[in-house]
Amino acid sequence: MIEVIGVTKVFPGPDMDFTALGGVSLTVQDNEFFTLLGPSGCGKTTLLRVIAGFEYPTSGSVLLDGKDLLAQPPYRRPVNTVFQSYALFPHMSVAENIAFGLEMLNKPKAEIRKTVADMLDLVRMTPMADRKTSEISGGQQQRVALARALAPRPKVLLLDEPLSALDYKLRKDMQLELKRLQAETGITFIFVTHDQEEALTMSDRIAVMNAGTVRQIGSPREIYDQPSERFVADFIGETNFITADLVGVEGDGSGLVRVRLAGGVETHVQAPSSDLASAMSNGPVTLAIRPEHAILVDEPQGLLKGALENVVYFGTDTHFHVALDDGGLFVLRQQNQPGQRSDMSVGDRVGLSLGRGVGQILRD
Ligand code: ATP
Repeated sequence: MIEVIGVTKVFPGPDMDFTALGGVSLTVQDNEFFTLLGPSGCGKTTLLRVIAGFEYPTSGSVLLDGKDLLAQPPYRRPVNTVFQSYALFPHMSVAENIAFGLEMLNKPKAEIRKTVADMLDLVRMTPMADRKTSEISGGQQQRVALARALAPRPKVLLLDEPLSALDYKLRKDMQLELKRLQAETGITFIFVTHDQEEALTMSDRIAVMNAGTVRQIGSPREIYDQPSERFVADFIGETNFITADLVGVEGDGSGLVRVRLAGGVETHVQAPSSDLASAMSNGPVTLAIRPEHAILVDEPQGLLKGALENVVYFGTDTHFHVALDDGGLFVLRQQNQPGQRSDMSVGDRVGLSLGRGVGQILRD
C-alpha cells in the first residue's frame, strides 16, 4: 500500500517559484490498477517521479507499507518505472534488455535465465527473444519495456503514458494487455495518462488531477456518474451544464435533492453525497447532465424545452443539439437501433426528459 501524504513540490524559478504539486494526498491499495489522470502540466509526472525517487518533494511524505519510502534512494525502492520513450538499449537483444536489470542486481545466472523466459512468455515475445530491439515494432518494444520493468518483481510499477507512442488500434490492444499483466502479476500499477478513455477502461480507481491538486478519487463509474465538481465533469466525457434552483433536500439519506429548472418545473437530481446534500442551502446551483442520460420527447412532456438545432449521425449513436428556450445549448445522445428512422428535423420544437435522480449537482 502506498500512502502519499500532503506532498508538495515547488520548483524554484528565476522570477517566481512554481508549485507543481500543491499538497497531494492519496492512498493506492495493494494490487490496484491506479491511474493519475489530468491535463498536461497538472503534475502527474512529478508525482510519479517523487514516488520513483527521481524527485524529492518540498514537503510531505510517501509511505510504502507504512515505511518511509523517501528515506530510500531510488535504486533501493521496490518500485520500477516504464517510460513513455521505453528507453531500451538498441544494440542489445530483447532477452538481454529484459535481463539487464536482474544482472545489475547480481542475481544468479540460472535465476536470470528463468525469469527472462517467464517474462518473455508473459508479454508473448518468446519467438523474438534474440532480435535486437531496434529491429522490432513499437508495440513489441513496448512489451519488452514492460517485461524489463516487471522482471525484478517490483512491488509497484509506475507507468508514465506508456501507450502514447502507439497507434489507435495497438493502443486499444495494449490497454487490455496491461490490464491482463497487472492481474496476472498482482503488482500494483500506478499509471499516468491524460487520456480519459484510457483511464476509464483500465483503472480500478482514478485520481483526477488539476493544477497540482487531486480533485476527485474514485472508480471509473463513480468519476463518470458522480463527478464532484465542474472540472471533473468537464474533463471526463461530455457534459451539459445547466443552472437550476435548489428548493429542497430529501430527508431519506439518498442524496437526492429537488431542483427547479428554467421553465419552473421541478425534478430530483443527485448531490455529490448524502452528507453534502443535507448541508446544502437552497439557491442557485449548477447541474451536470451526461448527453446519454436525457431523453428526447415531445415538447409538452419535456422538463426542458427548446428547438432542435443540429442532428449529427455517428454510426453507433446520434447527437441532437437542442437550443434551450432559456438560452443554453444541450447536447443529447441516443443509441441508434437497426432500421430506426428519425422523423425529427432541424428547427422542430422538442422536449428533454430526465429520469428521477438523473443529473448531478456540482460542488462550487
Ligand atoms: P504532461 O501530461 O504534459 O506530461 P504532467 O501532468 O505530467 O504533464 P508534470 O510533468 O508533472 O506535468 O509538470 C507539472 C508542472 O511542473 C509543469 O508546469 C512543468 O512545467 C513543471 N515542471 C516539471 N518539472 C520541472 C522542473 N524540473 N523545473 C521547473 N518546472 C518543472
